[in-house]
Amino acid sequence: MNDELCPHCNEPHPATDMDQHIATAHADMPPCTATLDNEHSGGTLSCVLRAGHRKGNGEYGEWHVSARREPVGRTIWNDTADGATPHTTEPTRHPGPRSHS
Ligand SMILES: [Zn+2]
Ligand SMILES: [Zn+2]
Repeated sequence: MNDELCPHCNEPHPATDMDQHIATAHADMPPCTATLDNEHSGGTLSCVLRAGHRKGNGEYGEWHVSARREPVGRTIWNDTADGATPHTTEPTRHPGPRSHS
């Protein structure tokens, strides 16, 4: 069994289908905006889960998880990891013109 539990509805899904499940079944939930960017991440990784995944729920709970990538699979991290940016509920601000004052 390679099923993983969805952290949002606790349904088991094959690991290879989990990203798709979250993207479709929970499309109405705001995305988790946490990212990881360090020397091991191979670029900036974004959490594929939705905002509010919590400890004790599903396969990852409070951990952020990147999309599956071959051959390394998923990267899992938390907010204390090197290079981690925590999820924020603030709306993305469009960078406006900067005034030099
Ligand atoms: Zn789900
Ligand atoms: Zn996350």
